Amino acid sequence: MSITPLMPVYPRCDVRPVRGEHCHLISEDGRRFLDFASGIAVNALGHSHEVLIGAIQKQAATLMHVSNLYGSPQGEHLAQRLVDLTFADTVFFTNSGAEAVECAIKTARAYHQSAGSDRFEIITFNNAFHGRTLATISASSQEKMHKGFLPLMPGFRYVEFNDLEAAKASIGPHTAGFLVEPIQGEGGIRIADAAFLQGLRALCDEHELMLILDEVQSGVGRSGTFYAYEQFGIAPDIMATAKGIGGGFPLGACLATEKAARGMGAGTHGSTYGGNPLAMAAAEAVLDVIAEEEFLAGVRAKGDRLRARIEQFLGNYPELFDSVRGRGLFIGLKMKIEPRAFVAHMRDNHGLLTVSAGENVVRVVPPLVIDDSHIEEFMEKLSAAAASYQPAEAA
Ligand code: PLP
Repeated sequence: MSITPLMPVYPRCDVRPVRGEHCHLISEDGRRFLDFASGIAVNALGHSHEVLIGAIQKQAATLMHVSNLYGSPQGEHLAQRLVDLTFADTVFFTNSGAEAVECAIKTARAYHQSAGSDRFEIITFNNAFHGRTLATISASSQEKMHKGFLPLMPGFRYVEFNDLEAAKASIGPHTAGFLVEPIQGEGGIRIADAAFLQGLRALCDEHELMLILDEVQSGVGRSGTFYAYEQFGIAPDIMATAKGIGGGFPLGACLATEKAARGMGAGTHGSTYGGNPLAMAAAEAVLDVIAEEEFLAGVRAKGDRLRARIEQFLGNYPELFDSVRGRGLFIGLKMKIEPRAFVAHMRDNHGLLTVSAGENVVRVVPPLVIDDSHIEEFMEKLSAAAASYQPAEAA
């Protein structure tokens, strides 16, 4: 047998982390890495954060899981907290981002179909990433994710990101809503124009469509506000969140207004694990730290400092780097070359973890708890990596 016991769907590198210490990872062979990848924008509190560990340990010893057949004081408390902090009136808890997007799509369809309309189609945007389930790959225009898994689920139409006219022109009799990342993560830290999101909001109001935001990657403080939509002068009808909300514990959620959730009555949706007490305790701990204006202001300030430092540095290597962009600590370093070999070089030769993304972008997504010493360490490693990089390594 040649297949590995771990299904070989990931092109894994040979770094094998076994321990986390604040903003660093230690591998099986004893190497130490500055972790500016954060498990792909997940470890918002870094590794080994006392508040998160304490909450999980306490809850694990008290009650880990019960069925959603029973009342949920833990779920009610966290849902109320999210309702108080956002546009939403109601929350469904999931275990991942893709499930949160699935719930968002179902909520939008049910909004229309519970009122006797047959609207089902969701308009999505080029280079989006919404997850790896059948519905969420169908929601993405990226053919590389479709290959081998056809047929796609019907009911999605793709248009150009930031092209409001194209979005407007694609509305038809079956359109149920728009699904959009306010800042595309996998697509390369592409920020939506405020006028684009505001235009989608206006189209939804005019045509009674659902505006669904996918804030799985941009949410929970990553962009410098609790959710990124706050920076665009709009509010969605439905929103998917995950990643940072559990700080590393698997958790997602679909948030909706009362109106948008009108089709989601008893028996319409469910999840065995979604919203279990252990996940709720993890998220409460994350929110205790992140959902504070002072903390979020700190994320914005650290993001500004880090982007300014990168900006200053880029000119030293005009053959490698193009520009830097992003909001808060959701940062994209656009390269003039395909970035994967450079990401590997930073990792293997300079102990620096980042993640590549679309549009030749290196994602710089550190834990939100970094301090100036981590920014210094990042700049030292980035600059040493740029100085020693031989593009031939790309071969
Ligand atoms: N949506 C966005 C914007 C994402 O970035 C991701 C994951 O990268 C997902 C959805 C899917 O989340 P998960 O991998 O937790 O299913």
